[in-house]
Amino acid sequence: MRIDILTVLPELLESPLNHSIVKRARDKGLVELNIINLHDFASDKYKSVDDYAFGGGAGMVMMIEPVFRAIEKLKAERDYEEIIYTSPDGEKLTQKMTNMLSLKNNIMILCGHYKGIDQRIRDHLITREISIGDYVLSGGEIPAAVITDAIVRLIPGAMSDEQSALSDSFQDDLLAPPVYTRPAEFMGWRVPDVLLSGHAAEIEKWRYEQSEERTRKIRPDLLKE
Ligand code: SAH
Repeated sequence: MRIDILTVLPELLESPLNHSIVKRARDKGLVELNIINLHDFASDKYKSVDDYAFGGGAGMVMMIEPVFRAIEKLKAERDYEEIIYTSPDGEKLTQKMTNMLSLKNNIMILCGHYKGIDQRIRDHLITREISIGDYVLSGGEIPAAVITDAIVRLIPGAMSDEQSALSDSFQDDLLAPPVYTRPAEFMGWRVPDVLLSGHAAEIEKWRYEQSEERTRKIRPDLLKE
């Protein structure tokens, strides 16, 4: 799988995509991540990527040309199944969506910045718009890192124990059960006995019940789905 992220601030994406499961997946060659600097596609000597908004008002707008040139160059090299724009008014990111995206071969993610991007890019080049929640961030870089992390950990082989991704929250519309590690007792706080019993079937049953109970209490909307 290959994910190309287009941004005016590549530095913001470096650390989140260079550690833990995502780094391991990159090192193993399971995913190729490329950060593309939109300033490299600017046409003036100042490497401008933004301009004033038509109609006035505060805030700059990302220009069409650098984005168009970057997207066209990438599209000439391979087929992209999705060209995603991160946007607060996009479809809300869910586990179902990341499951679906993790099956693709080539994805592009365009990060907005400033007041956003010239609407004509969205109208003509973008295939999907994704929001990571009902709040506004300064740029699409953190959303792009969120989307990428959520996708990459699902690629078979990315996690050491493949079952692990399947037992996470939202797979099967259930929240994950609580987890514990040593010591079995700390200041009188005890780990549930069943987890120390060694009975695999009992443990599995307990975990399932905990998942259901948590979901009913915290997120009953998931059970209705
Ligand atoms: N004026 C825009 C917000 C601009 S914020 C509006 O009111 O909708 C700058 C950029 O950050 C956006 O273009 C988008 O790419 C990104 N962004 C901000 N919040 C986001 C969110 N919740 N989900 C995804 N992307 C977001």
